[in-house]
Amino acid sequence: MRIIILNREKALFVLYLLGILLCLPVLLPYLTQPLFTEGRLNRTPMIIDPGHGGIDGGTKDHHGNLEKKINLEIALKLRDQLRQSGLPVLMTRETDTELFPYIAGRRGRHRRDLQTRIEKAKAANCQFLVSIHCDWSTDRTRRGMVAFYNHRNQASKNLALAIQDELNKLQTKPQKAAPGKYFILEQPGVTGVLVEVGFLSHPEEAALLQNPEYQETISFGISKGILRYFRDYYR
Ligand SMILES: [Zn+2]
Repeated sequence: MRIIILNREKALFVLYLLGILLCLPVLLPYLTQPLFTEGRLNRTPMIIDPGHGGIDGGTKDHHGNLEKKINLEIALKLRDQLRQSGLPVLMTRETDTELFPYIAGRRGRHRRDLQTRIEKAKAANCQFLVSIHCDWSTDRTRRGMVAFYNHRNQASKNLALAIQDELNKLQTKPQKAAPGKYFILEQPGVTGVLVEVGFLSHPEEAALLQNPEYQETISFGISKGILRYFRDYYR
C-alpha cells in the first residue's frame, strides 16, 4: 500500500516536471524580457519625433539656419542616449525628409504630415511620442526650454514635468512645463510631449542650438527626464 502511494507521488512529481518543461517555451520570452518591456509598457515604449523636415524647414534664425536640422540633430542624439540606457526607441524620421509629400493643388499637407507621425507611432505600438521643436518670438529677448503636454492626459503631464525638471538644471532661468494645444499632443492612443528646446529668434540661444556639444547637453537632459519618468511610473 505504501509503495503504491510513493509511486503515485513520483508519478505526480514527473507530471509536474513535464508540465514545467512544456510551459517553458511559452514562459521564456516573458522571463527574459528586458527591463523596460515589463509592466504596462509596450515592446517599444517611445517614438522620438524631430519636428518638420524635407520641404518643411520650420522656423529659422537670423542667419537662415533652419529649425528642422537642429530638431533632427538633437533627436538623433536623444535616440542614441536612450538606446544606450536600455530604452528601445524609434524615430518618425532619421533624415531630412517630410512625412507627407507636397502635392500641387492639394491642401492640408502639414496636417497630413503630423497625422503620419501619429500613425507611425501607432503602427509600431508606441505608447509615447516626444516631439522636438525650436521656438520663435518677435520678442528677441525670449529664450529657454519648455516641455508642453496635453492637460487632459496625466501621463503626458507627468512626463513633461520630469523632462522640464531636468531641463531646468541646464538653464539659468527655470521654466514651467505648460499645457499646449498641439495636434500631435491630442491624438488618442498616443501620449505626447512636445519639447521646445530654445528660441531661434534669440541670437545667443540660436547660436548655441547649432553647437553639437550644447545639443548633446540638451538631449542628455531630455533623456534623463524620460528615464526618470519610466523609473518612477513603471517599476
Ligand atoms: Zn517647430
